[in-house]
Amino acid sequence: VAARPAPYLDELNPAQREAAETLEGPVLMLAGAGTGKTKALTSRIVHLLATGTAKPNEILAVTFTNKAAREMKLRVGRTLGEAVEGMPWLGTFHAVCVKLLRRHAELADLKSNFTILDSDDQIRLMKQLLAAANVDEKRWPARMLAGIIDGWKNRAWTPEQVPPDEAKAFDRRGVEFYAAYQARLRDLNAVDFGDLLLHVIRIFRENEDVLAQYRRWFRYILVDEYQDTNVAQYLWLRLLAGGHRNICCVGDDDQSIYGWRGAEVGNILRFEQDFEGAKVVRLEQNYRSTGHILAAASGVIASNKGRLGKTLWTDGEDGEKVRLIGHWDGEEEARWIGEQVEDLQRGTRGLDPFGLDSMAILVRASHQMRAFEDRFLTIGLPYRVIGGPRFYERLEIRDAMAYFRLATSPDDDLAFERIVNTPKRGLGDKAVQTIQKTARSNGVSLHEGARLAVQGQLIRGKGAGELRVLVEAIDRWHGQVVAEADTHVELAEMILDESGYTGMWQADKTPEAPGRLENLKELVKALENFDNLQGFLEHVALIMDNESEDSEEKVTIMTLHAAKGLEFPVVFLPGWEDGLFPSQRSMDESGLKGLEEERRLAYVGITRAERLCTISFAGNRRVYGQWQSQLPSRFIDELPEAHVEVLTPPGLYGGGYGAAGMSASASPILQGLAASSVQERASRADVYNSPGWKRLQSRSGQRGMAQPQEARGITIDLEASSSFSTGDRVFHQKFGYGEVMALEGDKLVIEFDKAGTKNVVARFVVQAGQ
Ligand code: ATP
Ligand code: MG
Repeated sequence: VAARPAPYLDELNPAQREAAETLEGPVLMLAGAGTGKTKALTSRIVHLLATGTAKPNEILAVTFTNKAAREMKLRVGRTLGEAVEGMPWLGTFHAVCVKLLRRHAELADLKSNFTILDSDDQIRLMKQLLAAANVDEKRWPARMLAGIIDGWKNRAWTPEQVPPDEAKAFDRRGVEFYAAYQARLRDLNAVDFGDLLLHVIRIFRENEDVLAQYRRWFRYILVDEYQDTNVAQYLWLRLLAGGHRNICCVGDDDQSIYGWRGAEVGNILRFEQDFEGAKVVRLEQNYRSTGHILAAASGVIASNKGRLGKTLWTDGEDGEKVRLIGHWDGEEEARWIGEQVEDLQRGTRGLDPFGLDSMAILVRASHQMRAFEDRFLTIGLPYRVIGGPRFYERLEIRDAMAYFRLATSPDDDLAFERIVNTPKRGLGDKAVQTIQKTARSNGVSLHEGARLAVQGQLIRGKGAGELRVLVEAIDRWHGQVVAEADTHVELAEMILDESGYTGMWQADKTPEAPGRLENLKELVKALENFDNLQGFLEHVALIMDNESEDSEEKVTIMTLHAAKGLEFPVVFLPGWEDGLFPSQRSMDESGLKGLEEERRLAYVGITRAERLCTISFAGNRRVYGQWQSQLPSRFIDELPEAHVEVLTPPGLYGGGYGAAGMSASASPILQGLAASSVQERASRADVYNSPGWKRLQSRSGQRGMAQPQEARGITIDLEASSSFSTGDRVFHQKFGYGEVMALEGDKLVIEFDKAGTKNVVARFVVQAGQ
């Protein structure tokens, strides 16, 4: 036997190697964080290719994000020493399903140029359905309906398949609206995210030949982060792997963090039943983190009851203990972390300097990001936000995209609706209704409806002329897309120009207008990376992560959820406060399910760190414009003491920690607060008398703590915030959780889960987040 040189296998330990080399039959790799699951999976792909067992297009590999897919592709290419040809089926579930669905759209009653709706479009569509059915949206918000329908789709239920018990949802009309929504989507030649899988599953189930073909094609199936697959994804995989059973799944039950989105950790536990004779590989050696970090993470996750339980060990050094620090408020936390980042960049305390790319701040809720962005902007620290309010979600970008969508598919009614009067074309509500009516009664799209309305002089005046110009412009742009006359980049610029959209922002004198123009330029720039408009639109519809690839070194700010599978030498975990992390919702829930998921998220967070992990919390936090006193997270108590070092908060104790740049005064932040307008006294004593804070103090061995600031008459500015919108999940001190039904000046009508419907003043409630 000619021994092939396979250095990529030499990099693996025996268990990993077994997983990478067992190419036939089902394999499950079930192991804790940082044990090299993804590495083994990648090596398995390399092995399939290097041994000539499979061609690149015969491998179906599903990853959690597009970014992960890209990295895997890169690594495979690098290991093989050549760029991998193709690997067209390496991507997220959604990306793979879009491809499949485009090929077989007609089997799902769609045209192959179907539009993929984002959640914004989805809500808009549901609002229309609810309005048409005269449903009181205050009581029954579209957002709620969207959540219910998404949940059903995650479980792969078509309207007919929703079980009777579930069908009670949404005033017993959920199923009816689900069916109406699907019909509407079909009319629009559109799908939402959940549909991508659902349609493909249906196609496979109803067309044996199609399924058989893909079973032959995808000879090897690999899945990373298997613990977070939902039922639909699971069914999809089972259909495809059903023939040859060459499926390799890797995952970690302790890192299942998408239960709220329908993920079923049960899928991983069921693998051995579904695929009899599966080889189960367990990995225990962690290669990512130092001893202290690993022990801290293991200590926290040990409090979860429902787990398989795994031991993790490392033969690396103990390294630095996990650092723990409490701050006065969120701003101070951000300031301190900013200083830490700069210190680490320079190299402090005997540590080698860290590049900015090697540092990450992982937050529980995206509203935490703002404080860091503000601070880093102030001190000029380059950062990138991943998974926050995304570029493509901004108003001007969405408007521009609507124009692009119309150019590729003029029948895209949602896009038409969005821009018909943007910029202003003198078309009032009545004119828009006329267009809609005309379209409906003629069974045509809004674009065609508008044409008919103009021709039939159903719309008059200035608006009529401008509408005609728009209708004709859409025809022209579409013609250019079809003819591929200009490059798509030129076309995009022309569209924005001819539509008057760029002009609208140029004429706008508000402070945000220049930024919006900047973003539009950025958008056109992004187009250059694609072959055509359609490819670009698809990409945008699918991205889960901020794709901007830039070479400059930056600190990463992202949510814990988005950080799954990643690793950074230095990790900051701010906001470990009860109500934020764990989230209030998980704490209020009866049972431990939500709380255990939060704890897994804590485990994911700590295990992202390779060398330095810092956990922090703030005693006060401004959430959506309102100050709240915070208690340290219960997860802080679960950190094993032997692996934690408590740092002294600089602001509170008069700069005792000695961090650079700290003012000697008690706390500049407090002074700032005192100067702000007086609306309500915060009860700080609560914070400092809390068990968590006291424990923190005693751990730090700190004596003579600063007195609760209550005594100094510090006041806190509560902004009457109107940042709420209907459908928001909120929390009220007295009435608990509820949903915003309506806004009336500074008052909100809230339907509380337990206390019923009440009118409350906006500043007494806070957004409850996830
Ligand atoms: P997670 O659960 O967080 O997704 P994982 O199990 O997928 O983690 P990997 O990301 O594959 O772990 O690996 C973690 C780190 O350990 C990586 O930097 C990887 O290169 C390294 N590593 C994995 N296996 C080995 C090995 N056998 N020898 C040395 N380093 C390894
Ligand atoms: Mg991994």
